[in-house]
Amino acid sequence: MTLYGIVDAGKSWSREKARQVFESAFRRYPDINTVWAAGDDISLGVMDALNGMGIDRDRIVTGGIDWSDGAVRGIRSDQIGVSVGGHMFEGAWALILMYDYLNGRDFSQENTMFNTGMYAIDSSNVDQVAGFLADTWERIDFKSLSKSQSESLLYHFDLLHLIDTFYPGAGELTLTEQERRWLAGHPSIRLGIDADWPPFEFLDPDGRYEGIVADYVRILEERLGIRFVYSREMSWSETLTAMENRQVDMMAAIVPTSRRQKTMIFTKPYLNFPLVVITNENVDFVEDLTALNGCTVAVVRDYAEHEILRENYPAIALYPEDTTAKALDLVVTGKAYAYVGNLATANYVIKKKGITTLKVSGTTPHGHEISMAVRNDWPLFAAVVEKAIASISEKERNTIYQKWITMRYEHGFDYGLLWKVLLPALLVLWASAYWNRRLSSLNLRLRKEIQVRNQVEDELRKEKDKVKQLAAIDPLTGLFNRRNFKEIFPLEIRRVRRSGQYLSFALMDIDYFKQYNDCYGHQMGDDALVRVGQVLLDHCRRGTDHAFRLGGEEFGILFTPIDPDQAMGFVENMRLTIQDLAMEHRHSPVSDCVTASFGFVVSTYPADMESMYKDADLALYRAKKAGRNRTEMEG
Ligand code: GH3
Ligand code: MG
Ligand code: MG
Repeated sequence: MTLYGIVDAGKSWSREKARQVFESAFRRYPDINTVWAAGDDISLGVMDALNGMGIDRDRIVTGGIDWSDGAVRGIRSDQIGVSVGGHMFEGAWALILMYDYLNGRDFSQENTMFNTGMYAIDSSNVDQVAGFLADTWERIDFKSLSKSQSESLLYHFDLLHLIDTFYPGAGELTLTEQERRWLAGHPSIRLGIDADWPPFEFLDPDGRYEGIVADYVRILEERLGIRFVYSREMSWSETLTAMENRQVDMMAAIVPTSRRQKTMIFTKPYLNFPLVVITNENVDFVEDLTALNGCTVAVVRDYAEHEILRENYPAIALYPEDTTAKALDLVVTGKAYAYVGNLATANYVIKKKGITTLKVSGTTPHGHEISMAVRNDWPLFAAVVEKAIASISEKERNTIYQKWITMRYEHGFDYGLLWKVLLPALLVLWASAYWNRRLSSLNLRLRKEIQVRNQVEDELRKEKDKVKQLAAIDPLTGLFNRRNFKEIFPLEIRRVRRSGQYLSFALMDIDYFKQYNDCYGHQMGDDALVRVGQVLLDHCRRGTDHAFRLGGEEFGILFTPIDPDQAMGFVENMRLTIQDLAMEHRHSPVSDCVTASFGFVVSTYPADMESMYKDADLALYRAKKAGRNRTEMEG
């Protein structure tokens, strides 16, 4: 992606000015394909410019912030890609906090970093939130979010929660008379399933149809009052042929491909997962799929990736197998160099089979956009299925998603590495299940997610800044002081106990600092403290990272790592950066420059701050004893 330019909004923006600015920018950079505007009015100006210049709407994606009426209309008419909004609710959240505060319920007991997020509206969800957007929101009972209702309630400031609670009609299913008659006439539908595609759909040992897709299918059965008869004894290839021959009426989870589109009507995708490259451990990073040219690559026969690779990467030698397990086995036994397939499925099978020698070596620009499909002589039923899927609320989707996609890692397989390679993809995915579900193009979605993520991070950063200003700061280093530490630590403990994330606490102590002072004087000592403190600050970039000066030359770092490995990397990085400052320390027995020792602890369900502190202190003691200028982890 190339950033062609950022145009400063200044004071006098208008839709008309945005039109002019975009026109001249477009003349200079005719390759522009995305315009992100700080406000909807600006994106509407861009839309005017595009219309005026007669440029094809599909060529340029535009998006803005505000949920303005014009933008919502623009999304409806496919002229605007996306509008992000919801920030206006921050005001409501603040009022609730104040209301509770004035009634003796201090919100400082809860983390003040409420991640209220913003919500992206595009063509896929504009209809669902239309009622909400058009409303004056008087029907929302904000008191129900207040602690006056229940002392033990945790604040749940979330737009989707509001929509689901107060606008339940948003996802309601309304069928026409004709549609209802059609359903009554077809009480049982033959559903083509994949008996071996976990965690999406599979038959468990008792023959029960299970998985993410099965959960969706059950909701459909219930809402439409129909019964699905599953294709049980067929392989995936046979099921596909049966669908083409109309011995099966509908497919529960299928990726649209050009061939399939000839015989089936596809719903909008309701699930989306990236295709990844999996190899043996000894293989380095696979940058892109062309790096596999000339290699043997295992795939599952007739899965969408089989078709994608065959058509777009003819130089790859494909080795199709019947199941994911068998295809992965080809890599384990060295018969294939790599496997290309869906991340969630590969992860599931690897975990289930306890394979320890494989790793994810690369991601691809392709993904499985999973839809349902209906035989193409049943357009009426296709429309019904589309509506029924749309009626499934974000909450329901989330529940299903969380039931099957576990983000925890387990021992055996190097999940630490897996998550490291995949974290960017997963963040997008996770957010995508939550924010936007069926987007028209992968690119648009990625951009949108990144945008939303940056928003959230910005908000956290701002929140952090606020806290910083209010609270006592150590005047020498500008870091949080011990008082702040005592406030933030318990809040972070509560936060991770809710979210299930890891929390890490590190203690740092400068090595032989007494000698440093003795040799160079107290002033130089203070300067060294400032520089070391700055290193910690520089590394604590995220809203959930905190650096403290706990006293003298002792510092604390509180952060939320992905896993213990990543925590170690994070701490080690700080240690090495301090060493790299190369501040002369002639009298240090360990080095000729200033160094520091670190001890840290990582916990998923931390008991309390005292015990984490104690553990970090023990680890620090070990680091000192083992020779200093090193990092030790407790536990
Ligand atoms: P060790 O590696 O074992 O920790 O050796 P050390 O000499 O660093 O031992 P210790 O941590 O016990 O010593 C702390 C020293 O740090 C004592 C004091 O000279 C110095 N110190 C503490 N606070 C300050 C400060 O605010 N400014 C300056 N310049 N020095 C400080
Ligand atoms: Mg000390
Ligand atoms: Mg010391």
